[in-house]
Amino acid sequence: MELILDLRTIFVTGALTCFFIGVIQLMTFATGRFTRSPIWWGVSSLCIGAGLLGAAFRDTIPDQFSVELANTAMLAGCLLLLFGIRHFGGRELHWFGFGSVLLAVWILLALSPGEQGFPARVIIVAVVMAFCDAAIVREAIRLGRQEKLRSAWLLALLFAPTVVIYCGRIVLAMLDQVGTTLFPRDAGANAWLAATGVTFIILRGQALLLLAAERSNRMLAALARRDPLTGAMNRSGVEQWLDQRLRGLRQNEVRASILLVDIDHFKAINDTHGHAAGDEILRVFADAVRGQLRSDDILARQGGDEFAIILPGVGVREAVRVAERIRGVFRDALAAFRDLPEQPTLSIGVAESDLRGKSLDQLLAEADEALYRAKRLGRDRVQAQLKPVEA
Ligand code: GH3
Ligand code: MG
Repeated sequence: MELILDLRTIFVTGALTCFFIGVIQLMTFATGRFTRSPIWWGVSSLCIGAGLLGAAFRDTIPDQFSVELANTAMLAGCLLLLFGIRHFGGRELHWFGFGSVLLAVWILLALSPGEQGFPARVIIVAVVMAFCDAAIVREAIRLGRQEKLRSAWLLALLFAPTVVIYCGRIVLAMLDQVGTTLFPRDAGANAWLAATGVTFIILRGQALLLLAAERSNRMLAALARRDPLTGAMNRSGVEQWLDQRLRGLRQNEVRASILLVDIDHFKAINDTHGHAAGDEILRVFADAVRGQLRSDDILARQGGDEFAIILPGVGVREAVRVAERIRGVFRDALAAFRDLPEQPTLSIGVAESDLRGKSLDQLLAEADEALYRAKRLGRDRVQAQLKPVEA
């Protein structure tokens, strides 16, 4: 049995596929679930589709449409895809370069008419496409490395092979081995190449949506771990952090100091200055604390005006010094609020513990006891656990 692949049919199929994927990408944006990047991808797909459709009508419509316009539209689509991925990565977009490349392409194509111009046109198109795909691979690798997005590696994998194919085509065209027309009587391997190209278009569309979904999912997960008012972690964030921290660690002990902080007479601030002023104090506190922590440390809001601070690998003596420092910076930060009749102060309980094999509540229990003592002794002070630190 002989399998017949008609090159023109494949071009039309490719165009319809692009239109379909483009509409899906635009609809993805319309759901509001992602950033604006799918708009770029959608418009890019529509441009590539228009280019393929124009090319499919070669020899039936004037060359200005089926050669110059079709190729320029397709290359505009490739460049827009690159721009979309750069936009997704928060990178600069060079519109002047975009316009210049397309204008140059149009002029060069117009200067290489007819059958004898075909190899030159193949080179022009393949050079731009190879450049776009190589630049997309580069961006994808950057996203994979810096943002640790897994689907970015899939994207790199889907754009790398075509760079090689276009380079091969450039060499063949230079050696005058590409024939004289896009649709020769016997398309041979070109038909298979084009059919594979359509498959790639579909896979790439999927990979792009996956990329947007992965990032948006990650952003939502990060939001769900934080308290919106202060940016401190919430309870489920701390539990996840503990889980991750302890997973895969071989040592049978992971020591950390825990500070439990409560703002003194916070209710009075709310009562005399209003809830908004209270909120502002909470934010000031969180900012002041963050300035004192290492990247490894954790600030979490327990609820209301109570916060927990976890200092991995820090002993109780050092933790008491950190606690005193936090009281100091909070006092300094509040100096801006001159109209407070009474400056709010901090009571802090400090305890050292092994993070392994304990629930969050168990971890906090001793610091809580120390905090209670600080309150009872008159507030505005640091108290450490009484029990000697376990071995
Ligand atoms: P103490 O010195 O014993 O800690 O006295 P306090 O007034 O600070 O008492 P407590 O810690 O029990 O009071 C916490 C108050 O914090 C009660 C509640 O009105 C207020 N609060 C809780 N959450 C928020 C919030 O998100 N914003 C504001 N502005 N106030 C809050
Ligand atoms: Mg309080």
